Order: sequence, then structure tokens, then C-alpha cells
Amino acid sequence: MTEMREPIESGVPDHVQYLHPMMKKNYGSWKYHDRPRPGVLHHVAHNGDEIWTVRAGTQRQMDVYTIRTLCDIADNFADGYVRFTTRSNIEYMVTDESKVAPLIAELGKHGFPIGGTGNSVSMISHTQGFLHCDIPGTDASGVVKALMDELYDEFIHEEMPNRVKLSTSCCEINCGGQADIAIIMQHTKPPKINHDLVANACERPTVVARCPVAAIRPALVNGKPSLEIDESKCMCCGACFPPCPPMQINDPEFSKIAIWVGGKNSNARLRPTFHKLVASGLPNNAPRWPEVGAVVKNILRVYKTDAKPWERMSDWVDRIGWPQFFEKTGLPFTKYHIDDWRGARATLNASTHIRF
Ligand code: SF4
Ligand code: SF4
Repeated sequence: MTEMREPIESGVPDHVQYLHPMMKKNYGSWKYHDRPRPGVLHHVAHNGDEIWTVRAGTQRQMDVYTIRTLCDIADNFADGYVRFTTRSNIEYMVTDESKVAPLIAELGKHGFPIGGTGNSVSMISHTQGFLHCDIPGTDASGVVKALMDELYDEFIHEEMPNRVKLSTSCCEINCGGQADIAIIMQHTKPPKINHDLVANACERPTVVARCPVAAIRPALVNGKPSLEIDESKCMCCGACFPPCPPMQINDPEFSKIAIWVGGKNSNARLRPTFHKLVASGLPNNAPRWPEVGAVVKNILRVYKTDAKPWERMSDWVDRIGWPQFFEKTGLPFTKYHIDDWRGARATLNASTHIRF
């Protein structure tokens, strides 16, 4: 058992104080765990103590009434403790097996599906979208809600070859993560500059420095200090938009969605991998994003039938090869899928292994 950390000015509070007492007691002393059913984990400690964890899906962006409902369920049907996973699933812990079924029934009554464990499609980890970020090109939370409605069966069952992690990212440059299937905003036209506002709103050297391909230059436009873009160099990443909102890159038609496949952070079995672009130019079609849903479901269907047991998405693609991936999924392979940026070798860390 670790000592309480000293409080610091920033960062998350020490989690140990929030642990279920049984977890605190057996911290680091678990003998094994199994899964009696999808959505339920059963841990057994070396001293014989047992604890059951019930995992339920949530919509992530929650109103206060939903949070109160979830807390009431914890107080009345679990031991009063909850925690959230990195993919925004909520977990309840109970030390008595007879409490598992009533807890599941109560969550079901309120519409929270039980699942997301083992070889299922767990909840999609996603970025903040319009709720509290200033640069999104789409509403990642909305994409997630629409997709998870369609992947409900894959959440409550464990029928995939291995676990499937999905992520959604509402801009191209910041907080999206590697995933078996990643849904990422994709701008396809350079920013449009509002020259009347640049001098008042933007620190021009900062904006020039932000561009990874040196496509931005200071310029005088209509007698006012502004910026100009060399559009032949611009790769439409959107990195200049956060420090300079007058460089508007979001566009109802030309801001699209792309799908990337085969990334993973885990070191289990094989090394971590970067995901690769497999579909681009999908319309940013709120509120249900049907074109995105169709591509994701198609990839999952082919993976489910073609991958061997325990193959993660990247292992499967490694075995069959990318040409077979495009053939089996029927996704068109275009010149835009070829990464021909020659600067990558010199400027990008081409391995996901941490180097010290
Ligand atoms: S992915 Fe980009 S737009 Fe979305 S929350 Fe993160 S920084 Fe903001
Ligand atoms: S969108 Fe990206 S590449 Fe284009 S000018 Fe802005 S920072 Fe540079």
C-alpha cells in the first residue's frame, strides 16, 4: 500500500483515497481474475478475498441527472463506490456475488448497457468536441454516440477476435489517440485568412512558428500587417488555427472525416503500432454520420470474420498485408494513402518505443 501523495497545485488528486476498501486492502496482492460474463470482472486475492466489477457504458458527456442516477445506483445496489475507465465506462465494485445480478438489472432498467470487457468493442475514447474546446472541426461526442448506438451488440458481447479499441478526434493535431480504428477530422483546404482581424488577434511570429511545413509568411495586405500561406506547401493540418482564429480552417464542405486502422498502445504480444489511413474524405454529416458508421462497421465485420483468435487489428493486417485489407474491405486504395512526405524520416520519431 502506497503512502498518500503530497498535494500539488495541479494534476489529479491521489486516487487511493477513492478506492473500494477491498481494493485498498488487496492492492498489489491479486492472485488472478476472470470474467464470469461480458461486462463483469471477478478478482480473487491471495488471501481469498473476492470482488466483482460491473462495467456499464455511458454517453460520456453527462447531465447532472444522469450522474445522480448513476450515483444512486452505486449507493443502493453497490457498495457506494464508482470509477470511470479511460473509455468513459462506469464501473461498480461489489464484494458479494449475490449483489451482481440486481446491480445489472438496475443498470439495465435505466438504459446503461453492460459490457466493454475482453474481446468486445469497448466504448470509444474521444476528444471534447464543441463542449469545451475552441478548435474542433466536428463534435467528437456526437460521432461517438451515433457509432456506439450502432455497435451496441458488439459492446455487450465478447465476439471479436481480440479487444477492439476505437477513438475519435475532432481535430487533426491534438488529443486523438492511437486505436484499432480511429475516426479523425480531416481538413482538405488551407485556412481562409480574415486579414482585417489578424493584426488584432494573432501574434504573427507565433503563428509562423506553428506551421510544421513553413508555409506561413508575414505579409502586408491592404496596408495592414497580416499573414499569407504558400498553398502548395500547406498540408491542411489546422495547427495555425488555435493561435490565430482568423485563419479559419473549418468548412462545412471541405472539413471531412478520415478513418485510420491498426494503431495500438499496448506492448502485449507485439510492439505498439501507429495506425494508418484507410478511408478519407467522408462527409462530416451530423447528427448521425452514417457514412462514417458504414465504413467502421464494414471494417469490423471483415476483421471479425477473417482474423484469427487473439489477433488485434494490427496483427491481422500484418498477417494478410495491406493489399488484402483493401481487397477484403472493398475500400478504394488511392494515391492519397501513400505517405510520401520525405521529411518524415528526419523529423518524426518513427518508432512508438520510448527512448531514453
Ligand atoms: S482533438 Fe483537437 S479539437 Fe478535439 S478536443 Fe482535442 S484539441 Fe480540441
Ligand atoms: S494548415 Fe497547417 S500546414 Fe497549412 S498553413 Fe496552417 S499550420 Fe501550415
